[in-house]
Amino acid sequence: PPAESPVIVINAHGLPYLNTRKSTKDRVADLLSRMTLEEKIGQMTQAERGALGKQSDIATYLLGSLLSGGGSAPARNTPEAWADMVDAFQLQARQTRLQVPLIYGVDAVHGHNNVAGATIFPHNVGLGAARDPDLVEQAGKITAREVKATGIPWDFAPCLCVSRDERWGRAYESFGEDPALVSRMTTVIDGLQDNGVLATAKHYVGDGGTAYGSSTSGDYTIDQGVTRMSREELTAIHLKPFEAAVERGVATVMPSFSSVDFGQGPLKMHAHDELINGTLKGRLGFKGFAISDWQAIDQIPGDYPSDVRTSINAGLDMIMVPYAYPQFTSTLKAEVEAGRVPVARVDDAVARILTQKFRLGLFERPYADRSRIGDVGSAAHRAVARTAAAKSQVLLKNDGGLLPLRRDAKVYVAGSNADDIGNQSGGWTITWQGSSGAITPGTTILQAVRSRAASVTYSRDASAGLAGHDVGVVVVGETPYAEGQGDVGRAGRTLDLSAADRATVEKVCGAMKCAVLVVSGRPMSLGDLSGVEAVVASWLPGTEGDGVADPLFGAVPYTGRLPFTWFRSAEQLPINVGDASYDPLFPYGWGLRTDRGRDRLKAARDTLARGDVLSKAAAAALTLALSGRNWNADGSVRDTKAVLGTLGVTAALLERSKSDSYAVDDAVVSVARDVAQGAGKRPGLQASADQELAAGNLRKAVDLLTQAAR
Ligand code: BGC
Repeated sequence: PPAESPVIVINAHGLPYLNTRKSTKDRVADLLSRMTLEEKIGQMTQAERGALGKQSDIATYLLGSLLSGGGSAPARNTPEAWADMVDAFQLQARQTRLQVPLIYGVDAVHGHNNVAGATIFPHNVGLGAARDPDLVEQAGKITAREVKATGIPWDFAPCLCVSRDERWGRAYESFGEDPALVSRMTTVIDGLQDNGVLATAKHYVGDGGTAYGSSTSGDYTIDQGVTRMSREELTAIHLKPFEAAVERGVATVMPSFSSVDFGQGPLKMHAHDELINGTLKGRLGFKGFAISDWQAIDQIPGDYPSDVRTSINAGLDMIMVPYAYPQFTSTLKAEVEAGRVPVARVDDAVARILTQKFRLGLFERPYADRSRIGDVGSAAHRAVARTAAAKSQVLLKNDGGLLPLRRDAKVYVAGSNADDIGNQSGGWTITWQGSSGAITPGTTILQAVRSRAASVTYSRDASAGLAGHDVGVVVVGETPYAEGQGDVGRAGRTLDLSAADRATVEKVCGAMKCAVLVVSGRPMSLGDLSGVEAVVASWLPGTEGDGVADPLFGAVPYTGRLPFTWFRSAEQLPINVGDASYDPLFPYGWGLRTDRGRDRLKAARDTLARGDVLSKAAAAALTLALSGRNWNADGSVRDTKAVLGTLGVTAALLERSKSDSYAVDDAVVSVARDVAQGAGKRPGLQASADQELAAGNLRKAVDLLTQAAR
């Protein structure tokens, strides 16, 4: 420990920075003026809980922050034990001279996923498919409540990666391939931060744009690789969601392990002065603090002192060391004393960190609120996760209207992911990589089907009697992984179904009508689908298997839409909407719906009627579209011209209103599409309409569909 590090407890009571009536700015300035260099450096240091030699290291090294990296849990993994653990660490921090509370962080990326018994939401890929910013905000709120209940005020989420190549092992952490879609899902930040938990926009910037096979060492195939593109392309695709996040006041940003290459060679993001100091803190005006990724500064070329000064001078405020806290603190001190890291830079970093600690109220309420522990995994929270899972389901194919299933059907269930909570939750669940099996309480898809269908036979590999059933439900897909471990090519990972799953599909779908549910973090090669009536992309739905079964049995309609282009063959990868030659199996935004157009328009009208003046006008236009004269008794459109005309007016009004609802856009455009398809003409125009829609041009899309119907 540093020789002059003061660890004597004095009574800080009465000092101005503890006065809650003073402004945050004044409190920060007062506290900062009292701090030694060692105390400041401590605030910039984040250690892994499991790396602490002794708990007293927190006071000895004056640590400002701790984390649980990838599922690093207390010995007894219960919400109570988590709260006890975090409080015990906090007690150490509160015994330092200035009693600055520490800030504890976790990766709660789909619910409080490190904690056994917590509510596990669908991974981001599924939320992107659901296209419901309000629901995502609610997911953020519930995650915050569960995280807060265990005494933790900081979440390293959301991942705002725009995944452009699904061979990437983190594709499922992405809301989708379209920057506009990812940007609209930043509502999760409000859900977290309005409920007392800091969000982290990660990984800044270009993490989803790395080139496949870019590593020279051969160690990594795509994760942590190099993003090669112009400044303009990086800004248009990967920076977009971070702009939205900063606008929402995101408190922290985590740079990416990856490098960016603008043409002059790759530069590690953790050393990227232009993009961190220049763009993020400068042009975008980010006022929070930048936290490094796990040991990421070690990857900057050069010796350790150079890693430390390069990253901090590039704009990093706190370093996730996460083991090397003795080395980091002494190295940074030496760099500052030698004048290679300006004191002003240190002061700026510490002021940014303290500002967030004051805002959170950590000085006043540093410990867990035990009365909230029952929030973790509560029935009310699980109900929202179930809704999210239901809305995330994308119906890719539905020949003969096989889905929804009838509740009196005799169902045959099979496949590797039919009865596995671990597989349906994916990576970042209980452990970093996740794992198969009953790893945390929840409902499997099989259990959910059993509670609905009149009769269910289950045989994982379809080895038991196949005869005498009305319909098969085969649940196939991936097993859990996280980060580079999920890269295609790493550890034998491919996007093909396993041989066992393929055999099961063949057996079941050869014997009866069947639906294949794909539980995976990304599009997969499904093989020949000609003998398969229905296909559903279920993504990684989390602990609430009931959410998968709800649309399957028609309790709610299928409404999800693809957040990623579904490739026809793996040679097409990377494939994204807007590509010059775009020939996917299912295009970006695809998703069959089992609700009726008229009902969708009605719901959209009700949403708009609650909005601003222009939204209300759009609602009035929809009322005209809904007029009984325009529709047949069976729900089909009678007067194509009238309906499309009023939808055109609606789209024009929406363009100028503040309404930002996918549900509304979706209703308008999907009904317009149905009408155009009904008119049966000019599929080329319909494809162009899809592209316009993907670019957010609702009005142009409706115009094109109107032309197509003429
Ligand atoms: C990941 C981050 C995560 C961090 C802490 C890293 O390996 O890239 O997304 O927040 O670990 O667990």
